[in-house]
Amino acid sequence: MWQRSPPWSGWWPLAEDAAAPRTHSRHLPDALGRRYLLEFDTAELASRRADVLVIGSGMAGLTAALGAAANGRSVHLVTKGRISETNTWYAQGGIAGAVGEADSVELHLADTLVVGQGLCEEDVVRAVVGEAGEALRDLVRLGVEFDRVESGAVDLHREGGHSLPRVLHTGDATGAEIQNKLSGAVKRAERVEVFEERFLVDLLTAGERCVGALIYDPATHDLEAFWAGSIVLATGGAGQMYRITTNPLLATGDGVAAAWRAGAEVSDLEFVQFHPTAFDSAASPKFLITEALRGEGAYLLDCDEKRFMLGVHELAELAPRDVVTREIEKVIARCGRPNVWLDARHLGAEHLRLHFPTVWETCLEAGIDISKDLIPVAPAAHYMIGGVRIDLDGRTSVPGLYASGECSCSGLHGANRLASNSLLEGLVFSRRIVRALETDAQPVPPARVVSPPSDDSVLYTLPMALGNLQSVMSQFVGVNRSEGSLEEAATMLGEMAAVLDVSLTRPAELELQNLVTLAILLTHAAWYRTESRGCHSRTDYPLRDDEHWRVRTVWRRGASPRREAITGRTDAWAAGERP
Ligand SMILES: Cc1cc2nc3c(=O)[nH]c(=O)nc-3n(C[C@H](O)[C@H](O)[C@H](O)COP(=O)(O)OP(=O)(O)OC[C@H]3O[C@@H](n4cnc5c(N)ncnc54)[C@H](O)[C@@H]3O)c2cc1C
Repeated sequence: MWQRSPPWSGWWPLAEDAAAPRTHSRHLPDALGRRYLLEFDTAELASRRADVLVIGSGMAGLTAALGAAANGRSVHLVTKGRISETNTWYAQGGIAGAVGEADSVELHLADTLVVGQGLCEEDVVRAVVGEAGEALRDLVRLGVEFDRVESGAVDLHREGGHSLPRVLHTGDATGAEIQNKLSGAVKRAERVEVFEERFLVDLLTAGERCVGALIYDPATHDLEAFWAGSIVLATGGAGQMYRITTNPLLATGDGVAAAWRAGAEVSDLEFVQFHPTAFDSAASPKFLITEALRGEGAYLLDCDEKRFMLGVHELAELAPRDVVTREIEKVIARCGRPNVWLDARHLGAEHLRLHFPTVWETCLEAGIDISKDLIPVAPAAHYMIGGVRIDLDGRTSVPGLYASGECSCSGLHGANRLASNSLLEGLVFSRRIVRALETDAQPVPPARVVSPPSDDSVLYTLPMALGNLQSVMSQFVGVNRSEGSLEEAATMLGEMAAVLDVSLTRPAELELQNLVTLAILLTHAAWYRTESRGCHSRTDYPLRDDEHWRVRTVWRRGASPRREAITGRTDAWAAGERP
């Protein structure tokens, strides 16, 4: 009864597992079995060596680079744009940490677990929220300036799902402040060599071990082998899979796709967080209207200008993001408009201009005075919860390869991310990786890697393919999914993957390959999980199924998907209760 597919693409239904829930049994397309995107022989390439190779220059990458260099390691930091072109730079609301007088690690833990709907790993949450205070103090020591109240204490905002104000911020441009200070520190660091505008194509493996990366220089068209004893992946998310997203163009999931090809486990890809309140304008990416504005008292209104979150959730507009997003989608369908309204008029011009200068200015440029006008908002793809599976110290399943930040999946967020926990995750995990390197670190290996040959067949033009991909994902694998929509998406994406199975060298073409890879994995993961939970909403399985699905889903190239039990006392949290 087992049907074998080619060894590198095959995975099979779990039908012989008596405890298995009903799920789907489609094979992944053959193209996802590919090991390397390009043909190469490292013996013919220029090469560089460092103790540690860090890929990505956001919160996660910069923290890892600074920490490893401070411990005396030589570090190469590679990033595909300029050093400050990151998702981190765009973060507005801030970074969560239980530093307020009324707050505690236990409360932050409880909020994270409740919002995560029974899928958070409790030991991971405890480690991250427990280390927040110390990590944030170190950020301040590096020069990051958070807003303060008159007494000198940090000013804390409240955001969705938090039971009290807990978010440290710098106006509404916290990410830019953190990015600028960390980028400056890295540029000054003696042992860090920064390579801007270099593109990670693939991770190099020798035997089981990751030994470096294949890096492309678009300016010279050169491929180089960057060898390292330890490789830290910090390449961020993949919002560009969707037509409407808050993520900048760089968010194409390159690191996760490269790790997949290298044989690393990826998990929880079905969980994509849509932010409920992106500014509904023609711009792309969509400008985010920070949740902190709702935290300050802004309301959500429907087409009759009535508040619709009252009665839906006890926290009304500050309910967790998945709840608000789904409700907005319902209102949009009922009203037949592309957006709902955010009303901040009662907060007053002076307060708004002072506390939300970026939102104020951006809306004003679009002709909206937020002290007088309603703000049009709609959900947009925002954050990838799934990613390369890591342990408590950021180790992936491939020896020598670590991951941190949005490209990783630690189990912190469960089925739904608590607002402002993602910058914190990158910060804390990169610190943990730096500590782990002290015991794990290996010498830079002497190695030669030769890729197997591949067939070439380019049929798509790039803009058409990217537009198609985004349309398929937005229409069939968006906020709400069903078996029918997922099957349709899987078929279309599979066809795209087949014709894109090529040797392409321009970064945009490589990004497209990576986006298709991730889109297929996400679609199959969403199809596989036959329940609704957190930000995974199946219209054909509208209920949460704790009996079968209080598990994380783990996928690896060439293997069947695996369901893995959650660690910790999850029962009470899964029920949404605060023990
Ligand atoms: C508009 C917006 C607002 C947000 N607000 C908040 C907030 O208030 N609080 C919060 O906690 N989170 C927020 N988030 C989420 C948060 O910003 C991200 O999850 C976090 O910054 C990710 O950090 P990172 O270091 O993992 O990745 P990033 O900051 O995205 O950095 C990724 C890096 O990898 C590099 N890279 C990618 N691919 C390649 C490649 N192929 N080769 C070489 N380099 C590569 C990129 O160039 C970049 O340097 C927000 C996100 C957005 C988009």
